[in-house]
Amino acid sequence: MYYKVLVDGAEIGTFGHPSVESIHLSVVGSNDGMYFSANAVCAEDDKRVFLDWLQCDLKPTDIVEIRRTAEGDVSDPRKRFVMGRPKREPSLERMCDFCQLNETEVSRLVFIDEHRPSICAGCVELCNEILRSSA
Ligand SMILES: [Zn+2]
Repeated sequence: MYYKVLVDGAEIGTFGHPSVESIHLSVVGSNDGMYFSANAVCAEDDKRVFLDWLQCDLKPTDIVEIRRTAEGDVSDPRKRFVMGRPKREPSLERMCDFCQLNETEVSRLVFIDEHRPSICAGCVELCNEILRSSA
């Protein structure tokens, strides 16, 4: 899945991968202005990788075009993170390091590898509530 992106008619890049799980081509507004952002989660062998291509500043009058394309010279990502394995079967061995429930007992488990802490969706939600209530 590949997309060519143009800003005011000028090509800023081609973004994609042969095995895209999800791709995000977004116009983002913040207090600092507007920018275009391109990133994707892709499968490579037994890994998932997060590719982050660019943040391109936009003027309020810019016209952003996103065109699906067959393939092409994909722009080099500025960041590339390996996220761990692709979708996997839940395991009794992998558990949340906060509530100690195993992967079969939680809706989702963020697991990178056995050397780093894991956290389940329920504990993430609890952390979000704590942060919201103390803000
Ligand atoms: Zn948990």
